[in-house]
Amino acid sequence: MVENCDADEIATLAISLRRHLERRDRAGIKTLAQGNAPEKKPPVAKADTLLSGTVDDLFVENSALQADSLEQLRAVIGDCQRCKLCSGRTNIVFGVGNPRARLMFVGEGPGRDEDLQGEPFVGRAGQLLTDIITKGMGLRREDVYIANVVKCRPPDNRNPEPDEVARCEPFLKKQIDLIRPEIIVGLGKFAVQTLLQSKLPITKLRGNWHSYHGIKLMPTFHPAYLLRNPADKKLVWEDIKKVIKEMRGENA
Ligand code: URA
Repeated sequence: MVENCDADEIATLAISLRRHLERRDRAGIKTLAQGNAPEKKPPVAKADTLLSGTVDDLFVENSALQADSLEQLRAVIGDCQRCKLCSGRTNIVFGVGNPRARLMFVGEGPGRDEDLQGEPFVGRAGQLLTDIITKGMGLRREDVYIANVVKCRPPDNRNPEPDEVARCEPFLKKQIDLIRPEIIVGLGKFAVQTLLQSKLPITKLRGNWHSYHGIKLMPTFHPAYLLRNPADKKLVWEDIKKVIKEMRGENA
């Protein structure tokens, strides 16, 4: 409660708020977010949040940490204005699928079709991913969960920039934490390098098991890459066969 804060804490809050507004201004964001603010603000532990964190930490990352379900997390995101991608998007592409999925796919960010429909992987690359899931793995799209590193379409399908990833990543992390899948398939260089905090090329990373906070992660090529390089579909099939085996408990 603000009434219980001492003068130093209020001064710290004021400085953090001013920095936050300056950063928004530099990012070209002129309006204040009108999204659904989380109803319950995170309880504030004195030393580590108010005094060492910024307002952004308090209201973005901590609000994501508060969500107990994907619905609540989506509500926390609201009509997000946290980075400059908000100005070009039609829809926030949150994610789709089974909230209790054993298997999760993580891509880079929405393209044009996804931006228009508000659902990940629904364009040409998405059709290929759907074929991998349904024809290749014998699963239904609604059995798995599909999400992206960033939730808004980068202009001209460029790669998301570091500040955009930094703003959006807490939401992906929280999605993974809420779903707690057994296996994540990382689609393409960008998603895999972001998840693993690695700079290694996808050609080196793919096909081998990695760990994302204790969850098995299989990197593979992005379906959009496969549309341009169909000869590499056989490599993706090798990677997916390892995932199928793992899900069947045949790798033990
Ligand atoms: N590419 C991605 O990385 N994600 C999508 O949702 C669509 C295309």
